Amino acid sequence: MKLLVTGGAGYIGSVVAAQLLEADHEVTVLDDLSTGHRDAVPAGAHFVEADIADSAKVVTADFDGVLHFAAKSLVGESQQRPELYWRTNVAGTLALLDALRHAGVRRIVFSSTAATYGEPDTVPIDETAPTAPTNTYGHSKLAVDRMLGGEALAHGLGAVSLRYFNVAGAHGGFGERHAVETHLIPIALQVAAGEREQLVVYGEDWPTPDGTCVRDYIHVADLAGAHLLAVQACEPGSHRIYNLGNGAGFSVREVIEAARRVTGHPIPVEVGPRRPGDPAVLVASSERIRAELGWEPAHPEIDVMVADAWEFIRSRM
Ligand code: UDP
Repeated sequence: MKLLVTGGAGYIGSVVAAQLLEADHEVTVLDDLSTGHRDAVPAGAHFVEADIADSAKVVTADFDGVLHFAAKSLVGESQQRPELYWRTNVAGTLALLDALRHAGVRRIVFSSTAATYGEPDTVPIDETAPTAPTNTYGHSKLAVDRMLGGEALAHGLGAVSLRYFNVAGAHGGFGERHAVETHLIPIALQVAAGEREQLVVYGEDWPTPDGTCVRDYIHVADLAGAHLLAVQACEPGSHRIYNLGNGAGFSVREVIEAARRVTGHPIPVEVGPRRPGDPAVLVASSERIRAELGWEPAHPEIDVMVADAWEFIRSRM
């Protein structure tokens, strides 16, 4: 297929673009490089530097579909600058949908998030769980999920929203490179690499077995594989939603232990206060995508995710 990957210079977009090329698809990456990196666009992809709001300049009738990652994705920033999130994530996607409608492009796979669910009543979380985001980032992604539902019903778009839990690891030389790092695994590895002195654990008084928060980590290569299945499964007039996680949770303490095993570094930690807005436990049920699209994660082990992220970091030192 001939596919457009918006945000293909970012972490997940670059891994998906690489896997699409490996599977012999033709790939164009659209990215404004506001947070992405030009050298993260895989060789073999055509690259257009442009804002998502200008996607009409790129979208033509000869595209078979779009994988849409271009977005703002920091929860804290979304609370401080909500207008940026509404403009980029919601108005930006509306511009993309207008362009797809005008060109007659019928497939879209959207990068949604577990943040659409907010604080869950029960875990594991399946797709029938109530959506109640606790921040503007989650609200903006949920708004796009709703837009896709309407566009599918009214105009025959074939859409799939993939709701990611905690993505980790690296694939094919592409990994996580944030200017300001807030995520647990990259921070633990920065400590191991000597770039930070210690890691602060955000609370040890949570109602969990070891008192630290539990999250469902998914390898970025497994996550990317789901996008290749989803783009093929798009059906005109239908919008499907799938959760993507491993269905197993690891606590903050367990992740730090994995980083110690993998790197051989002691990784000093200090226990700090809870981070506002953190739910105690987030674990996905991904039964729906397993049953309907035959998705199977190949790397559910936390040590493999941490080891692949570590190899990526060291390759760049
Ligand atoms: N966390 C932590 N210290 C850090 C970064 C994260 O204790 O320096 C915790 C955070 O409170 C959460 C878990 O690690 O419980 C995963 O956080 P991350 O930011 O990686 O992903 P999130 O679950 O927020 O999407």
